[in-house]
Amino acid sequence: MRLVLLGAPGAGKGTQAKKLIEKYSIPQISTGDILRKAVADGTPLGKEAKSYMDKGELVPDSVVIGLVKDRLAQNDCKKGYILDGFPRNTSQALELDKVLSGINAPLDLALSVDVDREDLLRRLTGRRTCKGCGQMYNIYFSTPMKGKCDKCGGELYQRDDDKEETIKNRLNIYDAQTAPLIKYYSEKGILKSIDGSGNIDDIFNSICSIINSLK
Ligand code: AMP
Repeated sequence: MRLVLLGAPGAGKGTQAKKLIEKYSIPQISTGDILRKAVADGTPLGKEAKSYMDKGELVPDSVVIGLVKDRLAQNDCKKGYILDGFPRNTSQALELDKVLSGINAPLDLALSVDVDREDLLRRLTGRRTCKGCGQMYNIYFSTPMKGKCDKCGGELYQRDDDKEETIKNRLNIYDAQTAPLIKYYSEKGILKSIDGSGNIDDIFNSICSIINSLK
């Protein structure tokens, strides 16, 4: 199962990807997570990426495409994967297609998770992540008990790029560069869309029905 999750920042791609990897035992490849780790580790890649990420801009294609190619070449991707946050523009999508057709392993599905703008803003400004285990919360909808992670007791933090000004920029970039991928994958005949508002488990069940109908 080779799946791309599409959707604006805050649509819930990461949350759903975490549930999908458990159910289908395939890895999640989140370029945002890879880049955030590089920033936290202070690697040369992280130093280069940080200035773009802090402004809510896209990290250059040459950097991100290289990361994804390396990751896809690893053994655990042989039985499939979930791409979350990649591709982010048409040139990344074209490059991905090139790599995948070279190994005769095209994408099975591009799934667009659709959420209206007002909801996205509340999800992004309210988002908190556990420093320990990566579990995500939202101070408006899924308040953690006692202000710490319910799963591991870890400290919760707000992503630097979830501040209001940066969020506006990220959404503008999504509209201009990433949203056109919906048409791109639709024309390839592999696009499905789901309503990403509402209950996390209901959305997950809708996604699983789509995936199971492909088999
Ligand atoms: P995300 O966690 O997917 O919202 O990504 C956070 C930030 O990482 C984005 O705002 C970009 O700065 C950077 N980023 C993540 N994925 C990509 C990508 N595919 N291409 C370029 N930049 C990316």
